[in-house]
Amino acid sequence: MYSRGSDKAEITIIGAGVIGLAVASRVAGEGRQVYIIEQNDSFGKETSSRNSEIIHSGTYYPPGSLKAETCREGNAILYEICQRYGIGYRKTGKLIVATNDEESGELESLLKNGQQNGVQGLAMLSEGKVKEMEPNVKAIAAIFSPSSGVIDSLALMKYLDYSAREGGARTAYRSRVVGIEKSADGYEMTIEDSSGTSSFPTRVVINCAGLSSDKIAELAGIDIDKAGYRLHYCKGEYFSVGNNKSRLVKRPIYPIPEPNIASMGIHATLDIDGRMRLGPNARYIDEIDYSVDQRQKGDFYESVKGFLPFIEYEDLEPEMAGIRPKLQGPGEPFPRFRHQT
Ligand SMILES: Cc1cc2nc3c(=O)[nH]c(=O)nc-3n(C[C@H](O)[C@H](O)[C@H](O)COP(=O)(O)OP(=O)(O)OC[C@H]3O[C@@H](n4cnc5c(N)ncnc54)[C@H](O)[C@@H]3O)c2cc1C
Repeated sequence: MYSRGSDKAEITIIGAGVIGLAVASRVAGEGRQVYIIEQNDSFGKETSSRNSEIIHSGTYYPPGSLKAETCREGNAILYEICQRYGIGYRKTGKLIVATNDEESGELESLLKNGQQNGVQGLAMLSEGKVKEMEPNVKAIAAIFSPSSGVIDSLALMKYLDYSAREGGARTAYRSRVVGIEKSADGYEMTIEDSSGTSSFPTRVVINCAGLSSDKIAELAGIDIDKAGYRLHYCKGEYFSVGNNKSRLVKRPIYPIPEPNIASMGIHATLDIDGRMRLGPNARYIDEIDYSVDQRQKGDFYESVKGFLPFIEYEDLEPEMAGIRPKLQGPGEPFPRFRHQT
């Protein structure tokens, strides 16, 4: 693809997950030469296909943080892209529920937080109103977030891949970045593929390597501990809900999030076909491993039985897992997105 050693890429993007594809679709075109280097045989084989597919509203993040701002803006942009390009989505809204007085107090501060973040339409619901909207959910109060929804994440990535290719971006699959050397006017990239190792120059490198993005930063000579870029793997498992119970809720139902937003709490998610699953939990792990630990089933059941009383232990089956690349280690405070200069 890249002419070995002779061709100069203006921009090289490492990773064809949803972030790499979105960046590529944005920077491709206007005569720029853009390469995407992806180690797997297709796009979206890692975290981007192992998640809840929720379009978040930005309610949880600290006011004034870049994460809150980008989440709110991204929410509107995603719906617009979905409508314009026929990507499957359902703007279901979501409920964050309280089952006791203490949680009710936490809902109040969450509501204020979301309003400060500029999330439109957030509303506190009484027990009666929750019953009206979700007759099978047990809660004494809830926040309704109307701008939350569910997206077909594979269709989104197909669209972004198409859009990047239309702009002239080219993707090398089964190609792994193994070296990045600073040169006089950019970088020398070293790639490993089935034919061996090769290098090519590029003016700009964009690191979209997900779970490996700290290793990529290290390859480029960054001291990741000093820069605070070392990643922690935080696994999120899912259990499917059988016995025809998916139809018992109309929208994702969330509990109060964990302290420091370490996770949003095990919740009921629905995909765009309305199929329900529970998850994800949040467990720090040392190695990438996507298996689902059957022994978590009891914890899943205990976590949701208070607000989803129709779920029985026997309804749950292990489904899949994803891994969050987190800057935040166990018990550490919520880290903010950063502008780097
Ligand atoms: C359990 C879970 C639930 C989530 N739920 C939601 C949700 O509901 N809503 C939401 O918005 N977000 C959610 N997320 C977050 C969302 O999934 C991620 O933010 C997103 O997928 C990150 O995409 P990415 O492109 O950065 O990473 P990835 O999809 O992991 O892509 C990185 C790519 O880089 C490639 N790569 C890595 N190293 C190299 C190398 N050396 N050479 C070449 N290629 C390389 C990998 O093969 C991979 O394809 C969730 C995440 C998890 C884990």
